[in-house]
Amino acid sequence: MSTSERTFIAIKPDGVQRGLVGNIIARFETRGFKLVALKLVTPGKEHLENHYSDLSSKPFFADLVNYMNSGPIVAMVWEGLDAVKTGRAMLGATNPLASAPGTIRGDLCLQMGRNVCHGSDSVESANKEIALWFKNEDLVNWESAQKAWIYE
Ligand code: GDP
Ligand code: MG
Repeated sequence: MSTSERTFIAIKPDGVQRGLVGNIIARFETRGFKLVALKLVTPGKEHLENHYSDLSSKPFFADLVNYMNSGPIVAMVWEGLDAVKTGRAMLGATNPLASAPGTIRGDLCLQMGRNVCHGSDSVESANKEIALWFKNEDLVNWESAQKAWIYE
């Protein structure tokens, strides 16, 4: 478990349209994670099919890609202690109705096909997703002034 673990977090088109960008970013910021990269993008169908290639055989795949392609997405990389697993815990379950209150999905949405936020499910997929969405030079190396107040 490293303090420099990175995860890929994306605010999906419904999250952007519903004005939830600030709310979602604030949760990662105030938890103590460090922002490494951020952009607002409409990456297109092919990129989104690639991002969700593991799910290409699922019956909901076409709807999922259309949903993700329906508007701008906020793509981010967040860094910190156990960032991947903690990011998933902050997101809640895939089905918002099964997500505990206090989580992003448990607080902000109701249906799986409009669940406002993506988070990497393992360190391996985080690395793959970061490489898919960002160029190496987009990942900013900086030291947060808060570091000594977040880590012992
Ligand atoms: P996640 O890692 O929690 O986002 O879930 P998955 O990787 O399994 O699925 C990716 C996304 O596909 C989810 O966030 C949902 O938006 C969507 N999805 C997954 N399962 C279903 C489903 O059974 N029905 C519908 N409509 N969408 C689904
Ligand atoms: Mg997933």
